[in-house]
Amino acid sequence: MTFPGSIPFFDQPVQYLKGVGPKKAAALAAGGITTVRELLFTVPRRYIDRTTVSTVASARAMAVAADPVDDADIRREVTVVGEVRSFRVMGAGRKARFVLILADDSGSLQCVWFGGVQYWRTRFTVGERLAVSGQPTFFGQILQIVHPDVDRLAPGADEGIPGEDWGRTLGAGGLVPLYASTQDLARAGLDSGGFRRLLSSVLQQHAPAIPDPLPADLRARHGFVALAAALRAVHLPRSSAEVQEGLRRLTYDELFEFQLKLALQRSRARAEAGGIPFNVQSASARQFVDGLPFRLTAAQVKVVKEILEDMHAPRAMHRLLQGDVGSGKTVVALIAMLVAVDNGYQAVFVAPTEILADQHFRTMRTLLGALPVNVRLLVGAQRSVLRRDVLEDLRAGTASIVVGTHAVFEEDVTFARLGLAVIDEQHRFGVLQRARVRAKGTNPDVLIMTATPIPRTLSLTLYGDLDVSVIDALPSGRKPVRTVVKDANEKEGVHAFVREQVAAGRQAYFVYPLIEESEKLDLKAATVHLEHLQKDVFPELRLGLLHGRMPGEEKDAIMRRFKERELDILVATTVIEVGIDVPNASVMVIENAERFGLSQLHQLRGRVGRGSDQSYCILMTERWIAQRARRLRAAGDDADRRAEQRAAERRLAAMVRTTDGFAIAEEDLALRGPGDFFGTRQSGMPAFRVANPVNDAAVLAQARDDAFAIVADDPHLRQERHRPLADHLRARFREELTLMQTG
Ligand code: ADP
Ligand code: MG
Repeated sequence: MTFPGSIPFFDQPVQYLKGVGPKKAAALAAGGITTVRELLFTVPRRYIDRTTVSTVASARAMAVAADPVDDADIRREVTVVGEVRSFRVMGAGRKARFVLILADDSGSLQCVWFGGVQYWRTRFTVGERLAVSGQPTFFGQILQIVHPDVDRLAPGADEGIPGEDWGRTLGAGGLVPLYASTQDLARAGLDSGGFRRLLSSVLQQHAPAIPDPLPADLRARHGFVALAAALRAVHLPRSSAEVQEGLRRLTYDELFEFQLKLALQRSRARAEAGGIPFNVQSASARQFVDGLPFRLTAAQVKVVKEILEDMHAPRAMHRLLQGDVGSGKTVVALIAMLVAVDNGYQAVFVAPTEILADQHFRTMRTLLGALPVNVRLLVGAQRSVLRRDVLEDLRAGTASIVVGTHAVFEEDVTFARLGLAVIDEQHRFGVLQRARVRAKGTNPDVLIMTATPIPRTLSLTLYGDLDVSVIDALPSGRKPVRTVVKDANEKEGVHAFVREQVAAGRQAYFVYPLIEESEKLDLKAATVHLEHLQKDVFPELRLGLLHGRMPGEEKDAIMRRFKERELDILVATTVIEVGIDVPNASVMVIENAERFGLSQLHQLRGRVGRGSDQSYCILMTERWIAQRARRLRAAGDDADRRAEQRAAERRLAAMVRTTDGFAIAEEDLALRGPGDFFGTRQSGMPAFRVANPVNDAAVLAQARDDAFAIVADDPHLRQERHRPLADHLRARFREELTLMQTG
């Protein structure tokens, strides 16, 4: 077989492989597999160990023997291979369950699913063969496996049943790799068995052609097997020890090449000409700090130092500043901006929404006090006369600091001399966006700020090319917000408490989740809530409504009235989630709290506890959820992650347990998994096939150290020993990595 051109075997399209026709290639492509490498890195999702496959009869014996007390913590799993006899939905409504009868020569057992009933009823056909794995138990006299793990076995294929010669085509070990498949893949002949046959033939034919890009010293240091051997071990397993070794190598490779790419990107960004060597002895910054009504915290001083070192250096800064809500990032940003301004440059501050841009604009003007710095606001809602004026000031260089939204990077905005861009609350601000900023100035310094505490494992994955500073302590005198979970029956007590707080001079938020499909309906719902609270609950208090659908001016007016204490209670949808700063507000009531994500809850809670008074966060939810969340917290229970309701309970329990943003983030990450952590797939999170940056955090850190060390030593991978690595990266990251051509 001939492969086109000079592309390494690994990076060839799969359709050139023997056994892969257009139909299979199309199905693979739909599953994200287009190259040989992607195919080979599609590792089995599980292995069945022939030695643990049991008959129905022996599963029954095991269930009989199990001592429910002794075995409480042990899951004794079996895999039973059998034929589907029948299936049906039993019960109705909440009690509905899907029951499937699986039989082999020795008897039959029930597989039971609670939930997902409508899905499961379409999944099986009578007579097909399955391998089901799980814990055999008795329900009365009936042998069951509840929520088993199911693998569909092709009829008469080589998976076999116990006693058949599994080893015939699968090596001697008795381990059978099972691959994840989809309906489309299965239709193209790539069910689990199809994958197995394809991978086995590819490896048998091409193993010698598989290069090993890892430098030999690295391989030796970590005691890795060769790449071809690792792939063989994983796809044609002989022993589980071998499989583990293979997976260890593949996990590392995947994380390593990603970190290497980041290291190269960072090294290129640093080498780029035109970074501004700022003089960081700034009179304005000094005067600003001296004039603040408080002293900088040690944590603020530390990150200011890190930032100023970057600004002083002749390369461009690319730094991420993490700090929990209320940790005082704005002041830090202002110091950096004043340094830029004192050097004759302009600085831009980008907020995620217009409301926040406006608020930061006001805050900064207040904080800057009498300092002669021209700060301007640039948002879409401005009248065009004003906008033109701001644009002119920016072009002429008479505006020193501009606060705005992403609109500041639009084409009609020209800066006289942009030296620093501060991006607030946008942890998704990626490489591309940074390139846009760079286009606005002569390679300005970039500081990205986020209050989403990103667990270290994730920041290494996402921001490996950024330097990271962390404000790890709140200003002193802040009291942790007290958090409780309450249910509908306790509403009156909550209302009485709010009344008390208001009588003591405090203010409160009532936040509602977006529930309806359309914002219009939501606005209506929020309005109804407001009316109810005003008329029936707090007739003597002053309430206002803040909603995403309201025109900007109206939002501003409401916010201003709340800030100036003309309102006691602000009823809001989640528009207040980020950044709103009203230190006198001490109560945050979150309705339907089970509907919010954990980091969202944490952000909302961050709106209170900003002054010196004790603040409170009250999570309102349905009764049974409240009860369970309280119990979970007491037990420190690690509940079943699968069910959304359990997850909601865990979120609430975590909120009650801690106010530490990093602990919250770790829990959130554990609950949602890395892909969903940022609520979107466009977060720049790479799709790993083997590695899981959360579970494989230690490997990730190691791979990162190794990758950055290599690039420090050989920034363009020109050394002979790095050649295979360079070839591999060039083929693998064609579009993203132009470094090695320019180097
Ligand atoms: P972040 O943006 O990190 O959430 P802010 O910059 O909005 O936090 O700061 C929160 C509040 O704390 C503001 O009112 C700010 O003026 C105040 N603050 C900032 N630094 C200090 C400090 N060192 N001591 C006391 N208060 C501070
Ligand atoms: Mg902020």
